[in-house]
Amino acid sequence: MQSIPTGQFITRSAEETFELAYQIGEAVNEPTVFLLQGDLGAGKTVFAKGIGAGLDIDPAEVNSPTFTIVNQLDGPGARMRLYHLDLYRIEGGANEVYDLGLEEMLNDPAGLVVIEWPERLGEFAIPNAYQVMISDLGGDERKIEITRDR
Ligand code: ADP
Ligand code: MG
Repeated sequence: MQSIPTGQFITRSAEETFELAYQIGEAVNEPTVFLLQGDLGAGKTVFAKGIGAGLDIDPAEVNSPTFTIVNQLDGPGARMRLYHLDLYRIEGGANEVYDLGLEEMLNDPAGLVVIEWPERLGEFAIPNAYQVMISDLGGDERKIEITRDR
């Protein structure tokens, strides 16, 4: 059983966002997908780093994969494999989404998938994903809403 918190959270620094995501990463013990939505600079990558740290992955390794689009992280000691995707640069055509190899990631029994800019997935639906919506409230304040699709 996973105990991943859902609901609305307010954070007042990048560290607080990291800490919230860290607790979520720690709680994950089965294949899970997180769709991170929010504008540029909202804190999606900070959140992804926190999830990675919760899996015992070095957060310094979790960066927005600029041209690679997909970063697979399974360093020594990691509890699960982290697939970190940043789809900002893809147009979202069906072929491009297909070529990402998502099916394999979603079928990895030790895989945790984190996707920035999931809007680009278009018609490609991922069942049972957690939606994480990050809004900039000004300054260092962020609203983070976590819900789960059914
Ligand atoms: P994104 O991936 O959404 O484009 P990043 O995570 O790369 O955004 O960057 C978020 C930026 O906002 C970082 O520079 C971070 O230090 C800053 N920041 C300030 N306050 C917060 C907060 N409460 N939560 C997350 N990031 C914050
Ligand atoms: Mg990012």
